[in-house]
Amino acid sequence: MQRWNGWGNENIEMPLTSSAEVLLKELVGETGPGPEYSLENALSGIPESRIKTLHPSISIDPEDRFDHAHGQSLPDWVNIRWGTLKQFPDGVAFPTSEQEINDVLQLAFREKMMVIPYGGGTSVVGHLSVPESDLPVLSLSLERFNRLTNINPCNMLATFNAGVRGPDLEAQLATHGYTLGHYPQSFELSTLGGWIVTRSSGQQSRYYGRIEDLFAGGDLITPKGKMHFSPFPASAAGPDLRHLLMGSEGRMGVVTNATVRIKKTPEADDVCGFFFPSWDAGAEALRELANSGLSISMARLSNPAETATNMAIAGHKNQIDYLKRYLRLRGLFDNTWCMTLIGFTGSKKTVSFTKHETNTIIRKFKGISIGKSMGNTWKKNRFLAPYLRNTLWKRGYAVDTLETAVTWENVRPAMAAIENSIAQALEPRAEKVHVFSHLSHIYSTGSSIYTTYLFRLADSPEQTMDWWQTIKTAASMEIVNSGGTISHQHGVGMDHRIFLPAEKGGLGIDLMKKAWKYLDPDQKMNPGKLTE
Ligand SMILES: Cc1cc2nc3c(=O)[nH]c(=O)nc-3n(C[C@H](O)[C@H](O)[C@H](O)COP(=O)(O)OP(=O)(O)OC[C@H]3O[C@@H](n4cnc5c(N)ncnc54)[C@H](O)[C@@H]3O)c2cc1C
Repeated sequence: MQRWNGWGNENIEMPLTSSAEVLLKELVGETGPGPEYSLENALSGIPESRIKTLHPSISIDPEDRFDHAHGQSLPDWVNIRWGTLKQFPDGVAFPTSEQEINDVLQLAFREKMMVIPYGGGTSVVGHLSVPESDLPVLSLSLERFNRLTNINPCNMLATFNAGVRGPDLEAQLATHGYTLGHYPQSFELSTLGGWIVTRSSGQQSRYYGRIEDLFAGGDLITPKGKMHFSPFPASAAGPDLRHLLMGSEGRMGVVTNATVRIKKTPEADDVCGFFFPSWDAGAEALRELANSGLSISMARLSNPAETATNMAIAGHKNQIDYLKRYLRLRGLFDNTWCMTLIGFTGSKKTVSFTKHETNTIIRKFKGISIGKSMGNTWKKNRFLAPYLRNTLWKRGYAVDTLETAVTWENVRPAMAAIENSIAQALEPRAEKVHVFSHLSHIYSTGSSIYTTYLFRLADSPEQTMDWWQTIKTAASMEIVNSGGTISHQHGVGMDHRIFLPAEKGGLGIDLMKKAWKYLDPDQKMNPGKLTE
């Protein structure tokens, strides 16, 4: 069963190791348990539904309405755990066919409801927040519309209903010997439709591609009618309208079916561990790797702070002590070493060649190979790290992440500026923030920067939100000032909206607004998200 007030399956716990607890106390400070609110109380605060005409697929059950009133952003968590969530959809539709999706939408538009498409609810930037409105709000969940409807090995294409979640999608392809290979860390719960409209990126995007590369075509129901995007291999017939849809965050309508580019299940899929003596050496090595033409599937370089934190979280004291002794013997220093994971995916022959050539580049930058065991552990736990959010909250800590992508020459100054802004943000409140980063998606021209930060929960939801907003604004301004995009993978939602004009420009924002307005003249589709 899914947790009603946190991340993931309620039977899965990620304990905090004693070494991580010591580190947190030292770097952030001691704290008591975080607040908890009961489900009973949460449900008792939900007002009556304002929906007058119900479709059989619409539920007005308070628990369904609560579950679809939020995503997984830190403000969402504060509201859920403190009982301060104020806005709820008036109903949740669970259609099981495209016809039903269409019927529900027509009913919603006739009855002047606002509609928020809902995939897996894993948004971390306020995509699903329910607006304060005199009109009823309907959440349209795709959760029961999740089948593989066609697989075409000749064309290497497969078509799914858009509500399919990561594990179901991969399981259905695996029975035919294929894979999509799209593995965001939220894989367990997020859906194909959500990935498309938020321009998601999976952990092995260097081999499989981002969702922009994987989404070949599909169907969209807009308030003005249905649009079909043909899965051409390539096309020069004017602007590619899939790119307007990808990133549209529910503003254009509901994606019902999506055709994706599949690959054969790879023969080999290894992740190997390396350590670099310094951040500069690691970043230069990754830049060279990104431009080497080598077919690596992933490169993830942790900075020294993240390396130290990961070692503390890992526990296994004897193994970590042994690793540290080995690294010191090889001439690396504790406070500068940088842990790196590199993925090798494809045929056995390509993987073997790629590993060999990669090792040559790594050695050039004084990197040290530590083999596959760290990579195997990462593979085993790759979707478990978010469960730590549950544990940390119980201990009284808030954890959040933010991310950007910048060109190579900006990677180092941007990361330093973002981290400094976060580390110093709460100094006037006499609070400490622990911050660390990694590079996770590398391109020939630059890299994403993924930053995690932890701070103590305040005594009230208002103060916690104030602290979070202070950090978020300071870091977002540094992202913009460093020439970075406000999001490499999480999207815009409500939380990044004010920073979007800096990269799209006034004309760009107007163009998008006109597009939404043309397809949705009454502005009923997920209003306020991405643009006003
Ligand atoms: C722990 C955690 C780890 C994450 N890791 C990653 C990561 O590695 N990479 C990454 O890219 N993102 C990541 N995310 C962010 C999030 O998972 C992605 O944005 C994901 O694509 C959202 O998909 P979803 O199905 O959950 O969509 P939802 O959260 O349900 O919705 C997101 C937006 O999409 C719209 N939408 C959903 N389905 C449809 C549809 N069928 N038609 C039209 N609009 C629709 C919604 O209206 C909303 O605006 C992570 C989030 C969490 C909580």
